[in-house]
Amino acid sequence: MAIKAVRGMNDILPPEVKNWRYLEETSRRLLQAYGYSEIRTPIVEDTSLFIRSIGRATDIISKEMYSFSDSKGRNLSLRPEETAPVIRAYVEHSLNKKFGFSKFYYIGPMFRSERPQAGRSRQFHQIGTEAIGSYSPHLDCETIILLVDIFSALKLTGYLIRLNSVGCKACRIKFKKILRNTLSRHINLLCRDCQRKLTTNVFRILDCKKQGCQMVIRRMPVILDYLCRECKGHFEKVKQILDGAEISYQTDPYLVRGLDYYTKTVFEFVHPSLGSQNALAAGGRYDSLVNELGGPSLGACGMSIGMERVLMTLVSLNKKIPALKEESVYLVTIGEKAYREGYKILRDLRKQNIRTHIDYEGKSLKSQLRRAGSLDCRYVVILGENELKKEVAILKEMKTGRQVEVEIDRIAEEIKRYFRS
Ligand SMILES: [Zn+2]
Ligand SMILES: [Zn+2]
Repeated sequence: MAIKAVRGMNDILPPEVKNWRYLEETSRRLLQAYGYSEIRTPIVEDTSLFIRSIGRATDIISKEMYSFSDSKGRNLSLRPEETAPVIRAYVEHSLNKKFGFSKFYYIGPMFRSERPQAGRSRQFHQIGTEAIGSYSPHLDCETIILLVDIFSALKLTGYLIRLNSVGCKACRIKFKKILRNTLSRHINLLCRDCQRKLTTNVFRILDCKKQGCQMVIRRMPVILDYLCRECKGHFEKVKQILDGAEISYQTDPYLVRGLDYYTKTVFEFVHPSLGSQNALAAGGRYDSLVNELGGPSLGACGMSIGMERVLMTLVSLNKKIPALKEESVYLVTIGEKAYREGYKILRDLRKQNIRTHIDYEGKSLKSQLRRAGSLDCRYVVILGENELKKEVAILKEMKTGRQVEVEIDRIAEEIKRYFRS
């Protein structure tokens, strides 16, 4: 029996890859413009990195990690997200000394062993940023504005920005106590998971998507009412700056992200077309993570875009994803001698980065032309015995059918000229 891909891990085939490239290149252009530099970290990390940063009592750590021991008994995990690895690299290479304030972006696969469903696969892909070394609310806002600009470049409309503050450690300790007291009065209305979280990590109950728990959660006190002065001031500034930039958002006091490292600002970009898996992008501030991972005390803020979800949304909005320019030439040859002569032309064109095709299956003239048609080639160059004798080739434009004879020596030159026009 043939072997299939692992469940929840999908192949991305050539016609679809074009959409991915479009998303990546559009985002990359804006990320560069916003002063971010690309960073690439390994797929596999020490498991303790994620436990320490994301938090033991989160769903990601308790249920969704791809963890294994290697032959030396080291505990390793496929990265479920990329903030912790970037900070690990930042601390490991003392980048605070080298660069000071730094802006990084990444594009790549992440892994979580959830039940696969629309918009959620076990290998999924994210584009994200981490800006490290600032406590300024302007940075929180710029991260949100960057997302707005990326979605506008993609012509992705109809999303909503949800905004909240989860406070700092100090406000959270106070709030957790109040939350635990209030929730324990409704303990029998909570799901079993949430009952457990009441003692392990009460804050995570706010993440529960189960309807019964949601009913209880929506009657609970909200953290916004318990923020310390500093956190409250920061949140007010963030809202003012966003208002000034004419970014519309909704304050959602129940928004907490499923990771423990967030402090102060958290946000989500949601789209109604995505149903319950509705976050296109999300992020926030994490002012203690650098220090917790062994680095200096530095404020930081980041975001990540769910690439699968963005592509699904573009399709559901009926947005024609523009194909990257991929014009090509098919070199039709008749006979061995023509093939060899033709191949020299082909190589010359390829060195000029012009996409070219030739036959490798011994196809007839007619089926070579048919193949050129199915590949959507802009030009066909035909080289047969007669042409070789006259030292010319026939250059044919597929769309118009117009054809001219061109000297063999000049053919590459001529095609380059056409491609430039
Ligand atoms: Zn605070
Ligand atoms: Zn629950």
